[in-house]
Amino acid sequence: MPFSLAYQLTQNCPFNCGICNTYINSTQTMLPFSTLTKVILKLKDKGLKRFTITGGEPLLYKDMVFELLDFLNKNNIRTCLSTTGLYLKKDSIHELNKYLDHLMISYPHVNYKLWENHFGIVNGITLKLFNVVNFLIDYLKNTQINLEVVTVLNRLNINDISIIGNKLLELNKNIFWKIEAYYSNGKNKDLYNLYEIFDFEYYRIEEQITKEFSGKFRSIYFSNRNIFESKDYLIAPNGDIIRTSNNKYSDPIGNIMKDFNVEFPMTRNWNDYEKYFRNW
Ligand code: SF4
Repeated sequence: MPFSLAYQLTQNCPFNCGICNTYINSTQTMLPFSTLTKVILKLKDKGLKRFTITGGEPLLYKDMVFELLDFLNKNNIRTCLSTTGLYLKKDSIHELNKYLDHLMISYPHVNYKLWENHFGIVNGITLKLFNVVNFLIDYLKNTQINLEVVTVLNRLNINDISIIGNKLLELNKNIFWKIEAYYSNGKNKDLYNLYEIFDFEYYRIEEQITKEFSGKFRSIYFSNRNIFESKDYLIAPNGDIIRTSNNKYSDPIGNIMKDFNVEFPMTRNWNDYEKYFRNW
């Protein structure tokens, strides 16, 4: 059975997003490169088809990430990188173009002030990130990399979704635009009152976006609460296997270094990949 895994290379990140869902209940120690590659080859034998590197901000360890993506690509595993984009420049984009299938970045709003609310005001780098991401969305048109832009719908941006969609269209029509409902989990879950929206609001926006933007982007992908009911798997930095289901992280169900008997049944998410990203 094909399956997809995400490896949280690190929980470190220079930002401090109120909506951060980073899984934090495990040790920070990351697996050595040689261990990770051995594990990946064993998982490939079990049906691993797609491997996402996520964080935290994985590009704090840029060399390791690039080496790992290259390794995955050489072993015919689809590669995905989830990053803020802060450390990406033209030369690294050209390097990534050799072995990265899919890049995921976040785009919360068109207004810089809202980026400060979202990412926190961190030593001037939030402004840098805002500029870099706006540049990247446009610049990635020059590459083979699939670009998925994620807008997490929350109390602060819900009324401006049309403005956000139109800005993205202006930057790059060839994106997968993923609209995800905010849910409280991870490290800043105590702030949920600030961000939480009601289900009916999410579905109203889904309808509005479909009406306004259908057919205008390469694809629009709604990752709503129903989709989250499917099972997905996150590997914590130390190899702990976490099942994500119903918006919640499970306690570790094993460790990737020793529990090769853990099954990763085909997830509804895999069907979503096939449906939305079938041109891979
Ligand atoms: S949401 Fe992402 S960018 Fe924001 S603090 Fe968490 S890991 Fe960092």
